[in-house]
Amino acid sequence: MQKSFFSLLLFFLASQVLFAQTKDPKDTEVWEPQPRVVTPGEGTAPPSDAIVLFDGSSLKAWESLEGKKADWTINRDHMTVKPGSGNIRTKENFGDCQLHIEWSAPTVIEGEGQGRGNSGIFLQDRYEVQVLDSYNSKTYANGQAGSIYKQHIPLANVMRAPGEWQVYDIIYKAPRFNADGIKTASARVTVIHNGVVVQNNVEIMGTTEFIGAPKNIAHGKAPIQLQDHSNPVRYRNIWIREL
Ligand code: MG
Repeated sequence: MQKSFFSLLLFFLASQVLFAQTKDPKDTEVWEPQPRVVTPGEGTAPPSDAIVLFDGSSLKAWESLEGKKADWTINRDHMTVKPGSGNIRTKENFGDCQLHIEWSAPTVIEGEGQGRGNSGIFLQDRYEVQVLDSYNSKTYANGQAGSIYKQHIPLANVMRAPGEWQVYDIIYKAPRFNADGIKTASARVTVIHNGVVVQNNVEIMGTTEFIGAPKNIAHGKAPIQLQDHSNPVRYRNIWIREL
């Protein structure tokens, strides 16, 4: 009898202590670490901590896939795919990142579907966010603008007309591999096209393949690659933030 009274008393006191602890809002405040200060850019200008990959002045951040000079054409504030010159890629390697990139489909409309204003942004050299003139032009849905090519259909078609500037903001988490080269976590990507979410944290199954299943071979940080698909697609204002 006395024993159970004391245990009850002990329980009561303990609960009072616990309750008292949770009553102070300061208990749940976190003061350290503090996030670093980043100054936002005006409009679509890069924020203060971004790495500028292309601002219209030069292709010095880029090279060919053979490690030679990037041979695309610069005109005023933009670069244009030089058909037949091949893909270009950043000299620097990236993993998790936020990528801002603006592109514009050719105004001279040639071809249909996949042949119209086709290019692409390969994350880590392997995973393509499709660039295509999908303005009043139909193709397979998992290959249109804003798709993760042959893996994910975009949630909406947010295309502006050819010649107008399209904006992609891409938030990317790289895949993880263990020491044996086995994938332990897939890459994930969010794509915002002209301010509209078209890919919402989707799982990238593996490499972009034109034919066949995606592959998952271990890799580390790797370049951002832009595709020469024989159409004179234009790019401008490219910047990246490592996450
Ligand atoms: Mg493409």
